[in-house]
Amino acid sequence: MVIDHVIPLVAGGTMDLNNLTLACYRCNEFKGGRTTAIDPQTGEPVPLFNPCLQDWHKHFCWSEDGLTIIGQTAIGRATLVALRLNDEWLIRARRIWRTAGIHPPLE
Ligand SMILES: [Zn+2]
Repeated sequence: MVIDHVIPLVAGGTMDLNNLTLACYRCNEFKGGRTTAIDPQTGEPVPLFNPCLQDWHKHFCWSEDGLTIIGQTAIGRATLVALRLNDEWLIRARRIWRTAGIHPPLE
């Protein structure tokens, strides 16, 4: 895990604790200095999901097999694409975690 600036420093974010969260290295790299992404359903830019302020379950859910994340809102859909949360590597990892009985997360 790495420390992520929810609002990136390049976008005016600060080092204040309210602007810091933990993110995996991969998500942090794909996020970069972005605060928005395009909703693939509407083509419109929307804010990225903010894990400090927003409820994951409002914006995302797991597919029935637990291998993919489904965007429930424009923010969810755009964040999935921007952070590549359903790419081949993650699907493979989730399949292994599911076999080990530790996926999908209970909460
Ligand atoms: Zn991640």
